[in-house]
Amino acid sequence: MLVKTILNRVQKHRSFVYGDARLIEENGRLVLEVDILARANGKAVCSGCGRRRPGYDRLPPRRFEFVPLWGIVVFFVYMMRRVDCPTCGVVVEAVPWASGKSSLTNTYAWFLARWAKRLSWIDVARAFNTSWDSVFRAVKMAVDWGRTHVDLSGITAIGIDEMAWSKGHQYVTVVYQIDPGRRRLLWIGGSRKAKTLLKFFRWFGKERTAALRFICSDMWRAYLKVIAKKAGAAVHVLDRFHIAMHLSKAIDNVRADEARALVARGYEPILKRTRWLLLKRPANLTAKQDIKLAELLRYNLRTVRAYLLKEDLQALWSYVSPHWAGRFMDNWCTRAMRSKLEPMKRVARMLRNARDRAVSSAWRPTRAGTAPQILLRRHKMMKTDGASPRSLSSGVGLTYSVGVKKTHEGVLWRLLSRCTFARCPWAT
Ligand SMILES: [Zn+2]
Repeated sequence: MLVKTILNRVQKHRSFVYGDARLIEENGRLVLEVDILARANGKAVCSGCGRRRPGYDRLPPRRFEFVPLWGIVVFFVYMMRRVDCPTCGVVVEAVPWASGKSSLTNTYAWFLARWAKRLSWIDVARAFNTSWDSVFRAVKMAVDWGRTHVDLSGITAIGIDEMAWSKGHQYVTVVYQIDPGRRRLLWIGGSRKAKTLLKFFRWFGKERTAALRFICSDMWRAYLKVIAKKAGAAVHVLDRFHIAMHLSKAIDNVRADEARALVARGYEPILKRTRWLLLKRPANLTAKQDIKLAELLRYNLRTVRAYLLKEDLQALWSYVSPHWAGRFMDNWCTRAMRSKLEPMKRVARMLRNARDRAVSSAWRPTRAGTAPQILLRRHKMMKTDGASPRSLSSGVGLTYSVGVKKTHEGVLWRLLSRCTFARCPWAT
């Protein structure tokens, strides 16, 4: 009796009433079943067109999981009616507490989805005595809701990036809004091909694409091609973070090769333990590292030349005029190409490749200039969230489609929840 009173307070449905409530034991756990009955005078709603239609017949009782009470699993039990609809034929009725074929009530699904923001999905399932699958479906519902209600107005700057989500070379494409004051995830695609990004632009729409003023991305060729084709009018900013990454990799290669060669020729191993000296920005070095670096720079080494080239390129980001920035970069590329350092030449080729489309107007001192930094910070943000795909336990992959196939639950959820979930009226 008391259960009915509580339910009528927290979850009242028009045209339906609560019937008997029974406590039963099932698979070694306590289960509370609460019947739901349709009011005698209430006509069923057609799930096809949403109109009230005359009844046709009744289906066997179906259970809908509700929020557990004192750790006891709660089910609503209801015999779904079928309606005879002149437009839709004989179809199952729509009920207000659940949607579609879901065996979870809407209330419970939002409840689980909210917890899934704080705990891993498996932990949520354990804590509330339900299955991982139910938690997944709850999250999917929340995300779907967010996707259909997302506000895409006023987006003028986006960042496009690829992200590895499991071991090996498995990538997803992520697109962020990076407008000042509004940074959020907009879209995820299942790989990092040109086709993937094309899908984004199709979803985003021509009109909104035309309104884009800045696009920030790395030098991934597939992206460059698509951006030039689809959003040629926007200023394309190369992500500084990625350029730095390519440079660091190049220096690493030069250093490793040279260190091996020195040892082979019987020289002193002067390059030992110098990796971080060379990769760090000079301003971040400790006093001890400072001295060691100064010492190292006295040698005529390939590694030293590569290092000096890298440090030189930093000046690119202090340019105000895109014209002079372009001249500077051309100059740098020429020097790198003459350096006889193959890894550095590779970076130079990459930059040249992107120049025409990208860098010529990229380095603006205004808002766009901050875009690469914004992205840089975002990379850090993802790390602190523990959303690093590597750190997530593997084996819980599941097919999920927001344009994403078989991607990782944690990555997906953390990414998507940030942009979609917060504004749902039922989720508060
Ligand atoms: Zn209908």
